[in-house]
Amino acid sequence: MTAPRSVAEIASYHAHVYYDPATTRAIAEWLRERIAERFSVRIGAWHDVKVGPHDQAMYQVAFAPEVFATLMPWLALNHRGLSILVHPNTTNARRDHLVDPIWIGPALPVHGDKLPEGDHGAEPPLSPNTRPHLRP
Ligand code: ZN
Repeated sequence: MTAPRSVAEIASYHAHVYYDPATTRAIAEWLRERIAERFSVRIGAWHDVKVGPHDQAMYQVAFAPEVFATLMPWLALNHRGLSILVHPNTTNARRDHLVDPIWIGPALPVHGDKLPEGDHGAEPPLSPNTRPHLRP
């Protein structure tokens, strides 16, 4: 048997919040604002068109490992039907997205051919751009 992987591999996490620009963008906006009020994270730009390996419009929420324990259950309770891909950032982005993700809401296709294969630097936690003032 091989030794289990250690959580020390995980430098940070992403949550990709998917939405349909025509029908669910308002829910995505609501969720984005509620996240920003409650969590110290880095919220990325709106992508109303598909980018990278993603099959729908989305925005990214990047966060440090210590945020996971509260953000993850909060998203589980508050995603309001949206699909959210949560993945660790280790040294293998393709494996992180395709093999090791955690889905909240319905899983969507992820296009692994758009992701680098093999080892590279793991993304460290990005500096937060939110100012949380409410308890999750
Ligand atoms: Zn990502």
